[in-house]
Amino acid sequence: MTLFEKIANHEIPATIVHEDADLVAFQDINPQAPQHIIIIPRRAIASIDDVEPGDAELLGKMIVLAKQLARETGVANNGYRLVFNCGPDAGQSVDHIHLHLLGGRELDWPPG
Ligand code: 5GP
Repeated sequence: MTLFEKIANHEIPATIVHEDADLVAFQDINPQAPQHIIIIPRRAIASIDDVEPGDAELLGKMIVLAKQLARETGVANNGYRLVFNCGPDAGQSVDHIHLHLLGGRELDWPPG
């Protein structure tokens, strides 16, 4: 079981900001911006490289939830960034797909 499945199952503590039948969202333990939320599906998919066409609705729900949380946390007015890191060159460190919602400050581009 991945670390993020354990968070979704409440086996490891985290500041959970949203839960529903498909998705869980929680504060990142090492925030890179004033708002840094991780959105995961309950179903374990290792990386974006493993998604199948049948996962499209689930992935869409992740983005819709990100928009909702961006509004709720107040970062939507000034803007925010959504990131899926995929694989070692992108720095993916947990093999359970997760969408980063980052906001609350001006973000550099290109990323490091
Ligand atoms: P990645 O680098 O794989 O794209 O993102 C993984 C993210 O998960 C990182 O931003 C990291 O800080 C966060 N993270 C890792 N372990 C934990 C944990 O135990 N609790 C929480 N809340 N976040 C974690």
